[in-house]
Formats: sequence, C-alpha cells, structure tokens
Amino acid sequence: MYSPLLRKNYQHFKSLIKGNSCTVIFRKLSSQEQSQVYDLVVVGGGSGGLSCAKAAAGFGKKVAVLDFVRPSAQGTKWGLGGTCVNVGCIPKKLMHQAALLGQSIKDARRFGWNIPEVNFSWEEMAVGVQGYVRSLNWNHRVQLKDKNVDYFNAKGSFVDDNTLEAVDAKGQKQILKSNKFVIAVGGRPHFPDVPGVVEHAISSDDVFWLKNSPGKTLVVGASYVALECAGFLTGVGLDTTVMIRSMPLRAFDQEMAQLVCNHMEKHGTKFLRKCHPLQIDRPNGPSGPLTVKYRNHQGKEFSDTYDTVLMATGRRPETQTLQLQNTSVQVDQSSGKILGGFDGDGEKTSAANIYAIGDVLQDRPELTPVAIKAGKLLANRLFDGSKLQMDYDKVGTAVFTPLEYGCVGISEEAAIHRFGEDNIEVYHSFYKPLEYTIPERDASQCFIKVICMREGAGKLVGIHYLGPNAGEVIQGFVTAFRAGASMTTVMRTVGIHPTCAEELVKINITKRSGLSPLVTAC
Ligand code: FAD
Ligand code: NDP
Repeated sequence: MYSPLLRKNYQHFKSLIKGNSCTVIFRKLSSQEQSQVYDLVVVGGGSGGLSCAKAAAGFGKKVAVLDFVRPSAQGTKWGLGGTCVNVGCIPKKLMHQAALLGQSIKDARRFGWNIPEVNFSWEEMAVGVQGYVRSLNWNHRVQLKDKNVDYFNAKGSFVDDNTLEAVDAKGQKQILKSNKFVIAVGGRPHFPDVPGVVEHAISSDDVFWLKNSPGKTLVVGASYVALECAGFLTGVGLDTTVMIRSMPLRAFDQEMAQLVCNHMEKHGTKFLRKCHPLQIDRPNGPSGPLTVKYRNHQGKEFSDTYDTVLMATGRRPETQTLQLQNTSVQVDQSSGKILGGFDGDGEKTSAANIYAIGDVLQDRPELTPVAIKAGKLLANRLFDGSKLQMDYDKVGTAVFTPLEYGCVGISEEAAIHRFGEDNIEVYHSFYKPLEYTIPERDASQCFIKVICMREGAGKLVGIHYLGPNAGEVIQGFVTAFRAGASMTTVMRTVGIHPTCAEELVKINITKRSGLSPLVTAC
C-alpha cells in the first residue's frame, strides 16, 4: 500500500524487478492531474449518489459526482437529481395531487362551496410540475457547490478498479482517480420486444415531461408505475386503459391489490385483464392515432386505437455503459444488477474499493428513502468509522393510486406461506372516512388488514392500509413495526379521533371469526 500523499500526487509508472528486489518508479502528476484524484468518486447523481456524496463531503473529503442522463427513446432528458426528482416520485406525486384536487372540487360543492364548472389544463399542470422539478435540479447543483463536491455532467465508465473515464455531451474526456468508488446509476424503463414499441410508445421517463395532454392512453403493465400513472391520467379526465398481463401489484397483498383496481375501475379506469401487446402501429401518419394489437390469455386477438401508449413494463439497471468488465465488480447475469454484501458489508461489491447503492444493487427495495439512507450510512462507514449497516428489512411503502395503498411487512399470502395458516391471525376491517360522508363518496374499498402471529402478544408481520393519505398513515406504523410491536400493543393504543388512522388501532375482527369486517360509523 502506498501512503495517501503518494497515491494522490504520484502515479505508479513501472516496477523493475532485479533478483529479490523491486524498484518502483512513480511519475509525479501534473497539478491538473492531481486535481482529478479524489477520496470518493460517485457515479450517478440520483437519490443514493447525492446523499452519499454530500455526507462524504461533510467529513471534509474530496468528492466528485458524475451524473449523465441518456435521453429516452422519445428524446426526453432532464437535469441533476436522478429518477425520483425528474421522472419518479416528485412529478408523480404532484400529478397525483392534481388528480386528487379534481375530486376535492367535486366534494367541495357538497360542503357548500359554490364552484362553477371547472376545466383541467394539462399544459398548466405541466408548466407547474416541470418548473418545480427544474428548481430541484438547480438546488442540487447549488448544494453540491456549497459542499465543495465537484459535479461532472458526464458519463462514467471504468478503466480499472481505481480509474474512471468521464465523457461529457461534447465528447470531452477526463480521467478521475480514486481508491473509493460508489456506483449509484439506478435504472431505466425497459421495453419488451414488441414491434413498434420503441418507435411509438412512451415510458414514465416521458409522461412527466409532456407539454400537451397525452389524450386517450393505454398503460401496459400492472405494477407501481403503471397503476399510479393510470390513476392520475384517469383522475385528470383522460380516457385511460390498463393492460394487465398476469396480476396487479405482484408481490403485494393480492386482496389489497384487487381492491386498488376495483376502486380505479369504479372511478373510470378501464382494465384489459390477462392481455399482452403484440404490435403498435401508427397507420395514418405522424399525427394519427396508434393502433395496438393485443392478445388475451385464451389466444384471442384484438385491436384498439389510442393517442398514447405508455409502457410501464419494469425497469433495468443502467450497468451496460459502466464497462464493469474492466473491474472486478460482479453482476447478476439475469437482472444485470450489481451483487453486494461482500466482506459483510451490504453495499460492498466484489471489488475491494467499489460500492453500490440504490436501484442498481441486487435484491434491494427500489425506493428513494432506501437509496438515500444506504448512501448516507455508507459514507459514515467509509469516512467516519461507523459500523452501522443499512437494514433493508421492514421498509414501508405507499402506492399513490387514486385510493392510496400503504403497507409494511409481508402480505397475507406470504405470511401463510412462511408461517402456516394456523399460526397467523388476520384482522380486517372496512371503514368509511368521515370526509366521504357529506359528498356521499363510495368507501367500499377503504380497507385495513393487520397480520400477526397467533402465539403470545401477536407479533406483527404485516400492516396494510387502503384509503386516503396512506403514506402519511402508514409511516408512523412503520416505526412501531420496526420496534417489534405486537397486536396487543396496537389494540391498547388509543386512537386520534376522527381520523382514518384510528381505524387501524380499532381493528378487532379476525378473518377466522367469520364476522363481517364492515364497520359502522362512530
Ligand atoms: P437514480 O435516482 O435513478 O439515479 C441514478 C442517476 O445516475 C441518474 O441520474 C442516471 O442518469 C445517472 N447515470 C446512469 N448511468 C450513469 C453513468 N454511467 N454516468 C453518470 N451518470 C449515470 N420511490 C419512492 O420511494 N417513492 C415513490 O413515490 C416513487 N415513485 C416512483 C415513480 C416512478 C415513475 C419511478 C420510475 C420510480 C419511483 N420511485 C419511487 C423509485 C425511486 O425513484 C428510485 O428508487 C430512486 O430514484 C433510486 O435512486 P438511485 O440513486 O438508485 O438512482
Ligand atoms: P415492476 O417490475 O414492479 O412491474 C413491471 C410490470 O410490467 C408488471 O406488472 C409486469 O407484469 C409487467 N410486464 C412486464 N413485461 C411485460 C410485457 N411484456 N407485457 C405486459 N406486461 C409486462 O416495475 P415498475 O416499473 O412498476 O416499478 C419498478 C420499481 O420502481 C418498483 O419495484 C418500485 O420499487 C419503484 N416504484 C416505487 C413507487 C412508489 O414508491 N410509490 C412508484 C413507482 C415505482 P407481470 O406481473 O405479469 O410480470
């Protein structure tokens, strides 16, 4: 090992071996070259990369962040901040809010507000949302500057375990050296091999940057991205169809997932179940509608026309351009994700000095707070002597469909599979939010399910909430869940009245009892 000074200011030039002795010759780096030697180089300026870089800089380290956006197939590109800021959580939640406001306006009339007929303007929503996202891009740049982090708007690829080549949009190259790298390149939407998809379809990378309304839209896919996008498109008044290949929200509790879809269907979203696309064409020229041919599970073929097809068919990690074959980083062959967990460190790759965080890491929840926390904890371990590892278990999540779904822990199916039906208790309850009463809104999908062990105090294994403000409601329960709370604790908790969250602590009907889970008002 060379001393840090030697490592920073000199480069190994050659080694001359004579008998038992070895003479090592170093080349002194020019001042320009020295400035490109870092304590840490982070590849990817998204949720995980930025949090790690800022935390490392806070320890006085010399840090560089590279962030480069490959334009989508439709040519959409954006600024610093990664998926969450530009094409994920932030614009999604804002468009979800736009849709919820439409419902609130209808409710408001029943609460006495004299609101004349209102129209929705996609164009105005887009100006607001996209302007806010640009302000976040700017804030991130300012924060990096304030923390003395060098930001390169350049694509990084590895030359070897200690050397990265950064190439900017003009093709200018720079070499960055470090003995610590963090890969935080996230993922991008993946299109299935269906004729016409690349030419004609958009993805979530495009929908948030559309300046004009997408019009009648087909959303292909049935997971988070698909249902959330279909939810806000329907909510702002667009004719929206979801094409489900197998099941909605795979890996989530299926009773909850079905209720999410039932609610969407009742509120105007159309569903094509057990279907997949075969071909997309634009037969009548560039301004004509798209024709989509599709097949159902019985092999029957259909076709329909849409203004827009949004493919929400999963995401793939951005590992292809990193030239990882020049390093000793191992990648999972089928997912393309980076394998972590080497030497007992959750984010350490098979290369001794290269770490990975966020969506690019194999078997980790693809969520912004997960990437942020993992990045911060990693910086603490690398530069502040911390031993604290990221705990990927018991992470809460919310799906921002028109009726929101929040959960922590496992589904009923998974609990039965893991512990056996006889060993778990499932509490369930339908409820009516007070806010729904005066506008006479349908509450038939507002539902809560708590799964616990049968023995002892009933250790909680899953909490599922479907209703207004699910993210806000479930967040506090995630803390209780992490603390190992039991069903007894939940039942002893005094609720806050009148709220939807209190319904969770009032729950007392088990599925096993056969009693009706329908709850009457207080
Ligand atoms: P990213 O944020 O994707 O950042 C990676 C960055 O690296 C990108 O800017 C990329 O362009 C850049 N990059 C890639 N390759 C290179 C290279 N070779 N050189 C330089 N730069 C490179 N999560 C939630 O918690 N809540 C939500 O509500 C939510 N909603 C979502 C909605 C949608 C539509 C999507 C798609 C995702 C959503 N997510 C949500 C997931 C969340 O956005 C991701 O989990 C999170 O952004 C991952 O962060 P990351 O740091 O791993 O990667
Ligand atoms: P997923 O991988 O979770 O889902 C992909 C969906 O596409 C599935 O419904 C799948 O169906 C379907 N699909 C795949 N291939 C085809 C095909 N050829 N034809 C038809 N359908 C197909 O991906 P998402 O992009 O929805 O989400 C990625 C991650 O992003 C999530 O895991 C989540 O962590 C994160 N995210 C988080 C959000 C939040 O926190 N609110 C919101 C959005 C994303 P099948 O089940 O049949 O395979």
